[in-house]
Amino acid sequence: MRSARAIFLSVLLVFPISCWAQLVAIQNVRMWPAPDYTRLVFDLSGSLQYRLFMLKDPYRVVIDLHGARLVGPLPQLGSGSQIVADLRSGARTKGTVRIVVDLKIDAQPRSFLLKPAGPYGHRLVVDLYNTAKAAQDRARLAARATAPPSRKFIVVIDPGHGGDDPGATGHVYGTREKNVVLAIARDLDRLVAAQPGMKAIMTRTGDYYVPLEQRRRMARGADVFVSIHADSMPGRVDDARGASVYALSEKGATSTLAKALASDENTSDWIGGVNLNSVESGVSEVLGDLTKSATIADSLRLGDDMLPYLRRVAPMHSNKVEQAGFVVLESPIPSVLIETGFISNPTDERKLRSRLFQEHTADAIFDGLKRAEPWLLARRGVPIRTAHVALPDEYVVRPGDTLTAIAHRHDVSVTVLRDVNDLKDSTLPVGLSLRIPTGGGRG
Ligand SMILES: [Zn+2]
Repeated sequence: MRSARAIFLSVLLVFPISCWAQLVAIQNVRMWPAPDYTRLVFDLSGSLQYRLFMLKDPYRVVIDLHGARLVGPLPQLGSGSQIVADLRSGARTKGTVRIVVDLKIDAQPRSFLLKPAGPYGHRLVVDLYNTAKAAQDRARLAARATAPPSRKFIVVIDPGHGGDDPGATGHVYGTREKNVVLAIARDLDRLVAAQPGMKAIMTRTGDYYVPLEQRRRMARGADVFVSIHADSMPGRVDDARGASVYALSEKGATSTLAKALASDENTSDWIGGVNLNSVESGVSEVLGDLTKSATIADSLRLGDDMLPYLRRVAPMHSNKVEQAGFVVLESPIPSVLIETGFISNPTDERKLRSRLFQEHTADAIFDGLKRAEPWLLARRGVPIRTAHVALPDEYVVRPGDTLTAIAHRHDVSVTVLRDVNDLKDSTLPVGLSLRIPTGGGRG
């Protein structure tokens, strides 16, 4: 009798709990404010159906999640967004959770569901666009694409990852790639902006995700595209370290590591969150095969221009420009991707966290850009305004120079200078690059 009642009671208790457990749990909400939109990400225990609509006076978004339940109270989102004011919830009917997003301004919503990727399970993404600002940005981009070639040297600086996509994570300090590369990119942005004749465009300026396609699109009408990353080697922590420079490859990767890195970087859109149904494939259409190989050759030269400066800052992982099929590098202009170090290596991770190393890395990339600027500008018919920039171990011959004077100035012997540079006689054409041996060259 007693046990029968116990069974009956437990059935009563278990039944609604099991029903409740079948509902998709809304586990967390994250907010990522970008300059032109704010992204809300709902972490879900499974896929579900939802309905989204806008209301006015005051502006708000209503999201009804069917077959869902809330796990605990909604998180405090903070005041970082210029669009989203607040978030509140209410159970509307049985099994439907209504979430109301109070807005500061009128906004246009775009929403989509994401399947599990990287560290995340099912997600509902709601992007709220600042309608006025989006129109302005589109007009500005269009104007730049059709404008007559500018005399400015335009550098697109692309800090990798952001928002839901943290990139690689350090093992010792938990350093996140997205933060390190943004810091380096901001340093580089300041350097480029301060340089007469140069102009910088950042693909992202804060902690939010920008789809790879959109990053490539920002390259239109610019001169160079520099993507900044810091990657990780899964498994054996100490193996890989140092910086490397990558260009796009059409034929496959130059090494297994290059291939692994490219496939890691290419998953960004899945983790960062992109509505793949709406992704345009604009760039590949714009870019014919011929231009592509020409661009790859220029990208390799651009990478070559950067290597010596990066080598000054850190040991290089590879001494040549590596190639792999990085999606973000499929751009119509010379483009390189710089791995500033291996965040998975404790020594590299410590360095990548340091402001000094970040600044020095930005300096090195900037020096490489200055070196590439004259020949890149010449490519599009802009008269060369800047002088050839010398490498750290290089001297460019100026009018009136003699071999003896150059040797004396650099504390090397004439014989060594002549040997190293393979000079047959003592004629020195102006503009010739001489390699200057470093360390105990005199003798
Ligand atoms: Zn990366």
